[in-house]
This record gives sequence, C-alpha cells and structure tokens, in this order.
Amino acid sequence: MSDVTFAFFHPRVLRTERLSPTLIRVVFGGDDLAAVVSGGRDQRFKLFLPRPGQDAPVLPDVLDSDWYPRWRELDPEVRGIMRTYTVRNVRRDPAEVDVDFALHGDLGPASRWAQQARPGDRVAILAPVVTDNGGVDFCPPDDTEWVLIAADETALPAVAGILDWLPADTPARVWIEVAHPDDRLPLPARANTEITWLVRPAPTADRTTALLSAVTAAGLPSGTPYAWLAGEAAAIRALRRHLVNDRGYPRPAVSFAGYWRQGTTEDELLTAAIEAAEESA
Ligand SMILES: Cc1cc2nc3c(=O)[nH]c(=O)nc-3n(C[C@H](O)[C@H](O)[C@H](O)COP(=O)(O)OP(=O)(O)OC[C@H]3O[C@@H](n4cnc5c(N)ncnc54)[C@H](O)[C@@H]3O)c2cc1C
Repeated sequence: MSDVTFAFFHPRVLRTERLSPTLIRVVFGGDDLAAVVSGGRDQRFKLFLPRPGQDAPVLPDVLDSDWYPRWRELDPEVRGIMRTYTVRNVRRDPAEVDVDFALHGDLGPASRWAQQARPGDRVAILAPVVTDNGGVDFCPPDDTEWVLIAADETALPAVAGILDWLPADTPARVWIEVAHPDDRLPLPARANTEITWLVRPAPTADRTTALLSAVTAAGLPSGTPYAWLAGEAAAIRALRRHLVNDRGYPRPAVSFAGYWRQGTTEDELLTAAIEAAEESA
C-alpha cells in the first residue's frame, strides 16, 4: 500500500438528483477531484460539512497525515461536521464524484445538508487517491463460493458498488431494507443474484429486526460463504451473531459495519470509539 492513500479535496456541489423518496444523489465537482481514485465496492471516505452560517467547513490549517488530532483541537462548535459516506461513482473529464445520501429527515446535519444541497455549495472530502487504500471492507477470500449481503438504505450505494465489482460467476443472496417501495432502485443486473427487498411498514417501524428475521428464516446455499453486513449497528450486530453462532460461519467470513446507530450521532460514536481505544491502550 502506498504511504499516501487519502488526501483532502475541496469540491463544490454541481447538481443533485432525487433517486427515490429516501435517496438523493449529490454530484461533486472541481478540478482537483481528478486525483480521486476509488477502490470500488464499499469504498468509504470522510465528508466535512459547513455549520449553519459558514460558507465552507472549517478545517485545520495544515492537512497532512496529522490532520485528525488538529481537527479534534478545533472548537467543536466551529469545526467542520465530519461524517462517513460511500463513493458511489468517480468520473473523469470532467472530474466528478457521486455520493448517494439516505435522507432521514431533520435529525442529523448530513441528512439536513443533503436535502438542501444547491449547486455551488462547498464541502471538503478526505478521499482515496490510490485503489489499495484500506477503505474497502468487502474483500471475499479466494475460496468464496457464494456471497451473502444484508444492508439497509444507508448501505445501498455500497451494495450497488459491490454488485458492480463482484465476478459474474459468484452467486449472491442479497437482502436490503428500505423505507419506501420506490427506494427499490435498480441494481447492477447479474444472472445469479437473488435480491430480496424488505420495505418498512411505517417510518417509525422498528429498525433492528427486519433483516435479522428475513435472513434467519432463509434457506441458505451450501458452499463456502462470505457475508457482508452494513446498516443500523444493533441490527448488524444481531445478524453477525446469528451467522457466527447459529449458522457456524467462521468469524473472518463475516465482514460487518454499523453504518449508524439508532439514537446516537456519528460524533458520539466516534468519541466512544476513541475512548474505548484509549482505555485498551
Ligand atoms: C463506512 C460507512 C459508509 C456509509 N455510507 C453511507 C452512504 O453512502 N449513504 C448514506 O446515506 N449513509 C452512509 N453511511 C451512514 C451515515 O454516515 C450515517 O447515517 C450518519 O449518521 C448520517 O449523519 P447525520 O449527520 O445525518 O446524522 P447524525 O448526526 O450522525 O445522527 C443524528 C440522529 O439520526 C440518526 N440516524 C443517522 N442515520 C440515520 C438513518 N439513515 N436513518 C435513521 N436515523 C438515522 C442517529 O441515530 C441519530 O439519532 C455510512 C456510514 C459508514 C460508517
């Protein structure tokens, strides 16, 4: 892996496109985006948003490999709002990056920002500049015979990226939980992919059991599996436990990520993760 895998960029919103009732695509542009490279699949990156009244997100003066402690030293009421998203597409000539936001109303600043994004709005991104960058979790071992994917709408961009990338002869069973029937967006067509959409009965419906119930009830293929799970943290934890404890999947065969946690902001999740790391150090 190269020494420099991610770098800061300062793009503007070029346009937005409403993909469905819940999902909105924001297309970022700017000449320096020509250096952004995606590893594909569930490639993650960091997005920095301005706070109300700011024209652009406030970041440390020096954005080298020590940017993070510097960002933490800035006033939390002033520094840019940092969130994690998935690179959906990267294009050249002109350089553009697509990010698909799952809207969840006025609850969080990123959802709020995406809902109101206008051409010219300024953000910053910490994005990959090499394909082998450590920001891709979907890495099936060579002996994988089939793939299990379970996700909610926040991971729909990642699922699309994974299905774009997956070799055509690898069978996949996919469960995706969404808020609205029209959120069932077309996914890359593959002959041996079985997709099950789970539509929540109401916006207030429980967010932690639909995927678990569906996967638990399913008859799954034999052969060496590789599972990739992403969505609400408690739902994903329960799914992983089911696959490892009840189905006997080896732990390394289950890649999982809590993309958000009910009742907790990403800032709070990050603070808790840092405190846990400091305690165990
Ligand atoms: C690796 C990774 C990749 C991700 N990729 C994407 C992506 O491509 N598209 C995408 O939309 N999201 C993605 N997410 C999830 C996104 O980062 C979170 O949903 C994030 O919390 C949104 O920030 P916010 O400012 O809107 O809400 P926050 O300020 O973080 O949270 C405010 C409140 O909203 C709740 N909340 C957060 N997200 C949701 C939600 N989706 N539905 C209901 N309630 C919610 C929280 O529990 C909290 O109570 C990704 C997360 C990770 C870790």
